[in-house]
Amino acid sequence: MSVVEENELVIKSKRLQALPPYLFAELDKAKRAAKAAGKDVIDLGVGDPDLPTPPHIIAKMNEAAQDVENHRYSMSSGMPILKEAIARWYQNRFGVTLDPATEILPLIGSKEGIAWLPMAITNPGDVVLVPDPGYPPYTGGAILAGCEPVPMPLLEENGFFPDLGDLSQQIAKRARILYLNYPNNPTAALASDEQFDEAIALARDYNITVAHDAAYTEIAYDGIKPQSFLQRPGAKEVGVEFHSVSKTYNMTGWRVGWVCGNAEVVAAMSQMKSNLDSGIFQPLQYAAIEALEGDQGPMQETIAVYQKRRDLLVEGLNKVGWKVTKPAASLYIWTKVPTKESSMQFCQRVLEKTGVVVTPGNGFGESGEGYFRMSLTLPTERIEEAITRLQQSL
Ligand SMILES: *Cc1c(COP(=O)(O)O)cnc(C)c1O
Repeated sequence: MSVVEENELVIKSKRLQALPPYLFAELDKAKRAAKAAGKDVIDLGVGDPDLPTPPHIIAKMNEAAQDVENHRYSMSSGMPILKEAIARWYQNRFGVTLDPATEILPLIGSKEGIAWLPMAITNPGDVVLVPDPGYPPYTGGAILAGCEPVPMPLLEENGFFPDLGDLSQQIAKRARILYLNYPNNPTAALASDEQFDEAIALARDYNITVAHDAAYTEIAYDGIKPQSFLQRPGAKEVGVEFHSVSKTYNMTGWRVGWVCGNAEVVAAMSQMKSNLDSGIFQPLQYAAIEALEGDQGPMQETIAVYQKRRDLLVEGLNKVGWKVTKPAASLYIWTKVPTKESSMQFCQRVLEKTGVVVTPGNGFGESGEGYFRMSLTLPTERIEEAITRLQQSL
């Protein structure tokens, strides 16, 4: 063992040591090796939009960056004009009324808020209910706050919504947060009104906060308009919603998101954040306002591009002989491994034989075993090339 590794064992907190292992490490290694060997790797693994941020948003940021007023610390609770723009957007898009002063808090991307929420509203030993498969920060944030993450399997036969009736009373009583995410990453599922209402009823009965991650509400196809959790009656009494400009406006690198809904939760998050950071760079907040209130044309074009890619990929995969259905929303295709292999074995073999990277479902949680995920974040030529290779070598 090298000196560095020994130090690492000593230096890492128990909290960090308690985080789950990174399951994609081996696949990442195989991907790097293939690239190093000169292979043309087609990466359908990443979930990061490849299209550029619309120019009018970049221009607004540039303009605001020239103003010395914007070079200073900003309020950690966010600029009032950004919160007002978010409130108007929720009103127009979802018919949800939010008080900008008390029910909206800008975040440095929604991920930080999602991960910090347990620190703000739980105590060590509390249970945090996390979707399995799911976005890793739900579990990571719970562990870092000393909570016990309890996975809730998302099964295909339940429309990839957790079976809340299946929760033991013992667990429900200890639970403080229920994370949900629709349109869902990685399964691409949507939630129905009834499913959201079920979550609200459980939250009321057991005094649980519902934390709905709504990152993909604008990434939907065939004219579908996924809803906000906050549209459901009583939602604001028991829950908050996380959202951001990241996926909607190709702004993942900009880091502007927000949490909105229940005022007590928002206040707790705000107090937390005032101890952690000093607000989002104001030019980024102006850019986010421009995104939400400026020309929505580029966003609609982006959705049309994703829809074309989705159709091409799904139709192509069906020709390969994989039975794949078109997702109604999100950037992902989530489908069963078409062989008897494990998710990991299958993904490794596909990479070796074709240079195409797809993501093993178990990397998102145990219940993802038997599935794999593909992203719509590559241009159509690359998707066509991937399909050709899959057809030729599998
Ligand atoms: C991309 C993504 C987000 C958004 O993260 P930001 O921090 O706002 O960029 C949130 N939740 C899920 C499930 C995502 O895939």
